[in-house]
Amino acid sequence: MTDSKVYGEFKGPYRQKSVKQRILALFLGNLGKVIGREIILRAARDPKTKKEPENWHQRLSELRTDDGYTILSWRNRGDLRVQEYLMPNATKRKKAGKRVRPNDETWVAILERAKHCCEWSEGGHVCGLHEGDVDPVGGGRVKLTPDHRNPHSLNPDADPSDQSQWTALCGRHQVTKKNYWDSATGKMNTYAIVQFATRPEKEIVFKFLLEYFGYEMDEKGGIKRK
Ligand SMILES: [Zn+2]
Repeated sequence: MTDSKVYGEFKGPYRQKSVKQRILALFLGNLGKVIGREIILRAARDPKTKKEPENWHQRLSELRTDDGYTILSWRNRGDLRVQEYLMPNATKRKKAGKRVRPNDETWVAILERAKHCCEWSEGGHVCGLHEGDVDPVGGGRVKLTPDHRNPHSLNPDADPSDQSQWTALCGRHQVTKKNYWDSATGKMNTYAIVQFATRPEKEIVFKFLLEYFGYEMDEKGGIKRK
């Protein structure tokens, strides 16, 4: 496959106040172009101290999940490599409604129950990252925040004083949950789940869909109607 990607450039210095705003300025100045990790790190650096933020990846995720920007990665686009990102346009999705939080007392009780570790559980495996640890997958220090067990819109009367309704999640798993659940509709975000799946998992889904729509694959990988 020929490499037809157009790469973006560093147009800094980026003097915006926060890491997130500097990364956003970089992407908005390079719409439709591929941005690599190196340039993101350079743009995210504190303009005064030149310190590289360790949590840039988290901030980038927040641009997607909290601010509603589309930022594609290798997970969504087959021609992007790991550590390459692309913002196709400056359109923002509509934001979900205001989030309810547990009250301070309840949050303390939740953290005690969780022993200050992320409570995300997937296939019987609990994340268990401790507050302040380095996240070996996402990078950066773990900061736990409250998450409502049900998508907010399914239960708008979330009780801020009932600890059983809340879990403590690390930043990476907050993002995972937000990607999986569309909190505006309360429905599972099937498309996002498939995007975030591994390649072998995607292959299983692909084969299922071929079968479902009445297609089959020949030995050369060609697809035809059954
Ligand atoms: Zn976690």
